[in-house]
Amino acid sequence: MPLTLSPHTSSCRCVAITGQEAILRCDDKPLTFADIEQLKCLSDSSLLFEERQNNLCALGLPPTEKLPDQYHSIPLRTYFATYGEELSLPHFRAKALYEWLNRTRFCTKCGTRLEPGAIEEETSLVCPECHNIFFPRIEPCIIVLVNRGDEILLALHRQRTTQYYSCLAGFMEAGESAEQAVRREIMEETGISVKNIRYFGSQSWPFPSQLMLGFTAEYESGEIHIQESELQRAAWFPRNNCPATPPKGSIAYRLIHGE
Ligand SMILES: [Zn+2]
Repeated sequence: MPLTLSPHTSSCRCVAITGQEAILRCDDKPLTFADIEQLKCLSDSSLLFEERQNNLCALGLPPTEKLPDQYHSIPLRTYFATYGEELSLPHFRAKALYEWLNRTRFCTKCGTRLEPGAIEEETSLVCPECHNIFFPRIEPCIIVLVNRGDEILLALHRQRTTQYYSCLAGFMEAGESAEQAVRREIMEETGISVKNIRYFGSQSWPFPSQLMLGFTAEYESGEIHIQESELQRAAWFPRNNCPATPPKGSIAYRLIHGE
């Protein structure tokens, strides 16, 4: 990995992604090896990997402007919202591995170029000099819906290009628990303290490598004072009368709309 295609992989599920989109055939049939071989030639920086343990053969391409006529692409978020978590897993894994491989070329200890790991059932890269092993990177984030009676706390984030109000979220810091991250993020970004933190569910979010850990929490005390470097606005909204929120396919949608 990256590996060339070989006949023993003929039963593998073939998937391809380009940028943040899944590549599909216009006739709705599953991708075949022939498709993968054709698509691979669209870019010199395509990455192809094969995981026998996951029965997966995946191709990752950088954002591509023009696909051959027999293919089209849809955003991975839309694919997830349409087909659900189970069917989206190969595409999300393809995206996560593409991002990881694209960013992991050299040993972080000695600087030697990495090679595919030796253990077939394990997706890894290894340093031939110091034998450090590198596994696909996952960065845990917390995302929280704060309730106050019939109201929920939503925020307009500064870093995002969309104008959706969403739950508060942030990366976990080294050394803290998820619950500590929840309390810290809410306090840092809005000045609100929370109680009764409850795990809600999780979602892989490989844009590029997040694992979103969803929580609900109850308002305890404090007035809203936003952290202006992170947020444009934060406010309490009636649960049944929210502003525009993230579309289906995100854990934020499930938290806000309860489905
Ligand atoms: Zn090394």
